[in-house]
Amino acid sequence: MKVGIDLGTTYSTVARYDKKNSRPEIVNNKFEKELTPSVICFLDNGEVLIGEDAKDMQAGGAGTIAASFKRGMGDNSFTVEAHGKVYMAEDLSAMLLKKLITDAEERTGEKIDSVVITVPAYFNDFQRTATIRAGEACGVKVMKIINEPTAAAISYGYNRESNKTVMVYDLGGGTFDVTLVKIEKGNIKVLGTDGNHILGGKDWDAAIVKYVCEHFLEDFGVDPRDDEPAKNELIVASENYKKVLTKTDSVTMQIKHEGYTGKYTLTREQFDTRTQFLLNATKDVCMRLFGDLGMSWADVDEILLVGGSTRMPQVTKFLEKVSGKPVIDHSDTDLAVAKGAAITSELYCSTSTGVREMQISDVTAHSLGALSVSPGGERYVNEIMIKRNSKIPSSVRKPFRIEPGNMTDIIEVFTLQGESRIPLDCYVLAKVVISGFYNSGEGAIIDMEYNYDENGVVKVSAFQDGEPLHVDSDPVPDDISWMSEKPKERSSGAPIAKNVVLCIDLSRSMRNSLEEVKKTVNDFVLTVAGENTKFGLVGFGDKVGIMRDMTADPNMIVTALDGLKVNVYGRGTDASPLGTAASMLSNRPGGKMVLILTDGIWGKRDFAVSEALNCRNSKIAVVAVGIGEADLGFLRQISTVEEGAMFTTLDRLGEAFGTIATAIGSGSMGMRESAAGGDGRIGSGEARGRLR
Ligand code: ADP
Ligand code: MG
Repeated sequence: MKVGIDLGTTYSTVARYDKKNSRPEIVNNKFEKELTPSVICFLDNGEVLIGEDAKDMQAGGAGTIAASFKRGMGDNSFTVEAHGKVYMAEDLSAMLLKKLITDAEERTGEKIDSVVITVPAYFNDFQRTATIRAGEACGVKVMKIINEPTAAAISYGYNRESNKTVMVYDLGGGTFDVTLVKIEKGNIKVLGTDGNHILGGKDWDAAIVKYVCEHFLEDFGVDPRDDEPAKNELIVASENYKKVLTKTDSVTMQIKHEGYTGKYTLTREQFDTRTQFLLNATKDVCMRLFGDLGMSWADVDEILLVGGSTRMPQVTKFLEKVSGKPVIDHSDTDLAVAKGAAITSELYCSTSTGVREMQISDVTAHSLGALSVSPGGERYVNEIMIKRNSKIPSSVRKPFRIEPGNMTDIIEVFTLQGESRIPLDCYVLAKVVISGFYNSGEGAIIDMEYNYDENGVVKVSAFQDGEPLHVDSDPVPDDISWMSEKPKERSSGAPIAKNVVLCIDLSRSMRNSLEEVKKTVNDFVLTVAGENTKFGLVGFGDKVGIMRDMTADPNMIVTALDGLKVNVYGRGTDASPLGTAASMLSNRPGGKMVLILTDGIWGKRDFAVSEALNCRNSKIAVVAVGIGEADLGFLRQISTVEEGAMFTTLDRLGEAFGTIATAIGSGSMGMRESAAGGDGRIGSGEARGRLR
């Protein structure tokens, strides 16, 4: 028998395809429940409890509890010690899977030989391979790893003939994911996926904790949050209050602390208002995905809700309002993923009968790159080979040149997963060693092939004159700090002069993001700072102000940054900082860049566009980074270099600035003065591994 398994952070579910009725069905556990808690309890007497029994023990505090171990998948530092052994997340997942499989076998009286397991779309290579190994450790064949949102879309779309573009909006306990899927005659095509993995139901709980504690503090002068146990208790209680607010219009909460008793009522309306910013943060991610795919709400037909937190009525209300599109009313919030996996388990088997063929195409959530040296030779960079949101399976071939005079007989390649140009901001997946090629020392070309297989797992192969070469995977060395240092092989001449004016939006809407922005820009300045680099700082709102004129001292900028406040130039954004920045840069030697950070729509857009044109004519690169309400279309209008317009969210702001920092360092993005230098693109350098 084949089954689909939703291996969840908090709960797991098993489903199988019922061929007679042509539909997926949940296989209940021993307790007649659809969901089994993803919890393991190691009792002091050596016994191990898994699932429901373990969860019962969790409350009592007996034995050693392992929970939420899905978060530790692929992470060597996540371990649980029990019964004198050290368990990794992968081992714990294998134990849970074994239990789920055995229970399902007992239930159905059939032996399970093959499974499809679901994983979050954002799971990286480590997490995916760890999941596959966990399944194999149970003695079953892992037919396929499938992304959770894709599974949800399959379960929704498999028997639907109509053509639709569906947004899968998955708000779980600690993560938010959005995926756009095209359903065409029952076939499923994932267009793209994005997420915020520090945003989820727990943040709504925290809003209740905050509400209660603020009132308590006002009434009694003590803050329960200052006491760790009291705080934890309140977090757990708040999750329940939150669920009450899903059902009713208000909840009354009684809190006892240090001899005081406070009683507070929170209406759903108040709760919704206080958590509006969280829904806005989910919208930011949707907008970023739209930006990546060149789409908008207009292209979406329906929204499919997945994840426990979408039960909150505010979610549907909000989405209908911002999208103007219908939110699908379905009761499968918790089960859609397992059912989609069950359908896949049947469809994936070519000999299957009773199910009509169905095509599923998915994408990768992470770019795959190789460690390279920047064109100027100043630093190591992540040279992206396969972009995120590329269809999988996917492969890209790139020639690798061994310079004449180099007699090496091996090539080392480091594979990286992530979006940043800075290698250590990415996951360093593997060190791949290629050998067996012919190298006379007169220069040789090796064709490197980077692959994502249909499970989203990375493979590297290499060829010389079409013949495959030996490829061995070596463990990634413990110390990879050299990736952030200057490559030794080549030296560049004197550094090119660089001038960067930072323009920060100080309108009122920036008040919640300004601290994070300051931190990010601060890091950026310190990364880019160096010989012959000058910075200036400009603030803007309804007016423009120079906060610090061009200086080679990064500390001056750091100090000026620290003093930034919103509203000093008015509450809106009626002004454009481009003219001011251009005047600061005029007549300076070297590369010139204006870097704008904004979170809103500007009042005088045409004026800004004409100023941007002047910048272009003066060979000033304009790079525009948007967050919040900013509009990618407008950012593209004012940016003067390729890939110089970016829309992102606060949690990924560092990534965007990292990309710009490497571009500046490598002399791309218009940061090279001579007409001969650079073609204005990031990543124009040839991929270069490390040669022994
Ligand atoms: P994950 O996939 O991250 O394990 P789930 O999709 O199971 O998470 O969602 C868990 C989240 O859903 C928790 O934050 C939980 O509080 C929330 N949740 C579950 N039921 C409700 C409800 N009735 N109302 C509001 N939130 C709920
Ligand atoms: Mg989930």
